[in-house]
Amino acid sequence: MLQVKNIRKKYVTGELEQIALNDVSLNLRDNEFVAILGQSGSGKTTLLNVIGGLDRYDSGDLIINGISTKNYSDRDWDSYRNHTIGFVFQSYNLIPHQTVLANVELALTISGISGAEKRQRAIDALTQVGLGNQLHKKPNQMSGGQMQRVAIARALVNNPDILLADEPTGALDSDTSIQVMDLLKEVAKDRLVVMVTHNPELAEQYATRIVRLSDGKIVDDNDPFLVDDSKLAPPKHANMGKASMSFLTSLALSFNNLRTKKGRTFLTSFAGSIGIIGIALILSLSNGVNTYIHNIEEETLSEYPVTVQTTDVDLASMIQVAASSSVDEEAGEEVNERKTISSFFSQAKKNDLKSLRSYLESEECPVYDYANAIEYSYLVTPQIYRLDKEEYYQVNPNKSFAELNRTYGAMASRMPYNIFSSLPESDSLYKDQYDVLEGHWPENPHQLVLVVSQDNCITDVALYAMGLKDPSELDQMIQDYRDGKEVEEVSEIGKYKYSDFIGKQFKMVNIADRYQFDLKRKLYVDKEDDEKYMMNLVKNGQTLEIVGVVKKNADSKAGMLSHGVLYPFELEKEIILDASKSDIVKAQIKDPDVDVFTGKRFDD
Ligand code: ADP
Ligand code: MG
Repeated sequence: MLQVKNIRKKYVTGELEQIALNDVSLNLRDNEFVAILGQSGSGKTTLLNVIGGLDRYDSGDLIINGISTKNYSDRDWDSYRNHTIGFVFQSYNLIPHQTVLANVELALTISGISGAEKRQRAIDALTQVGLGNQLHKKPNQMSGGQMQRVAIARALVNNPDILLADEPTGALDSDTSIQVMDLLKEVAKDRLVVMVTHNPELAEQYATRIVRLSDGKIVDDNDPFLVDDSKLAPPKHANMGKASMSFLTSLALSFNNLRTKKGRTFLTSFAGSIGIIGIALILSLSNGVNTYIHNIEEETLSEYPVTVQTTDVDLASMIQVAASSSVDEEAGEEVNERKTISSFFSQAKKNDLKSLRSYLESEECPVYDYANAIEYSYLVTPQIYRLDKEEYYQVNPNKSFAELNRTYGAMASRMPYNIFSSLPESDSLYKDQYDVLEGHWPENPHQLVLVVSQDNCITDVALYAMGLKDPSELDQMIQDYRDGKEVEEVSEIGKYKYSDFIGKQFKMVNIADRYQFDLKRKLYVDKEDDEKYMMNLVKNGQTLEIVGVVKKNADSKAGMLSHGVLYPFELEKEIILDASKSDIVKAQIKDPDVDVFTGKRFDD
């Protein structure tokens, strides 16, 4: 039994207060088909969302089988929605380019069920709604009624005790509406179905009970379920079991896996925008994590900001192209071409970032009303070395892995060995999210901060770079690996104090200084392999020093800093300024047609 007790809910938007539910009480039987009728704006959707845990009530109580939800945590609501509730909406919320089967399986993604069982359950659910023979169709090849049946299958695949449907036939003509209603009636045989509709005829014909709402109040109920509260035990406070993998956990995992700020490759931003965010949005509709999404929206945006790059691809239209170019079932014997790479290139656009920037910085640009901050990044890679008595190691970009890079290409580029990255320009974006464990935040461009993970770890790569582990050990491992020898994993796990990191120093070299003008050849020559030259350069380089150790605090759901050693944004500006003053850059700008490294014309 589900008891709605004296629930009130108001929405506040700016100055405006809107009372959506005004002291609503309602007891629902475990097995009935309830239709909620009422005019637009009467609070139907709000009531349904409160019942489903998609939205929170302000006061009152929702009592589920005798258990009060007053003290429910986010995790309890997650679990309630995952195990107990299925949702169906007016707009079907299917993913257009995935098959019907994949759409239904998706609802089981976070349930922790194995692949084979997932598939079987999805097939069963689709068979139940009469679509067992259309598993591999895409939603855009189906009628509205069929799509709604897919949505119902998706809601049923978790075998929920309660099915909630918000105007499920709102977008359908009367014939298809009847099919969907027949299905819901069937579904209601062994569970509670609550359906919002503004069609009184359908309600009369199919529902076993009709509740009318007006201005946030119940004005009629043709089959009330009266419960003598005094005979019931007082509602208990208990928390639900864990969802097998809570949505929060799975989302956090994905964020961590994709966490590379700049230099994010096309693939990871693709995964970020389609895979994770896309799935999160769909799940937020089907499994009801709206409130949760809302809560972390701001913090997550700091992790997944809206980014504009020089070249970009319109993903939405790419997907459209991919979906529309799929050949339908009647394809004959011939093999058809599917455009992929050509559509990719035709969708790739160049952005005029210079104009965009002057617009963003102009008076009439309203962006600051909506954005917390605007950050610019310049793809600057500081050349950082560690000086160790009479030896120097280049730690950024990390030279130890250059060889692996050549051998393993793309895979190696995903290895977490670049430990240096930049702090955002505005510290308001991250300072609240992090606690200082030791030392302080950088106070000048040459001070660095170490970011450790939530479980107090830093990578071995970082330890090698800082000289806390012997870097020749790393070189040996890479050498052995490359030579096909067995590499022994170092079994002992290093442990360090926060204070061990404070005062660690590096040297930064202006990359232009690595090139020397060769008078004879009239070219700039790279001196990287000249050890004496480089040693001198590194010794005279700019000293950078770690002054603080920080960690994301427990309250913030998403932290925007990479783990590793971070330098102030001002350092990037300094590098750009230094570069512009260097001879080699001046020479190149003076004669833009001839390459200063080769003496050849670019157009040759
Ligand atoms: P119905 O589903 O019956 O059309 P709703 O439950 O959606 O009604 O809305 C009830 C009232 O609450 C309406 O006046 C609506 O404008 C208001 N309302 C609903 N959702 C929001 C929201 N997110 N923010 C502000 N007001 C809202
Ligand atoms: Mg509504």
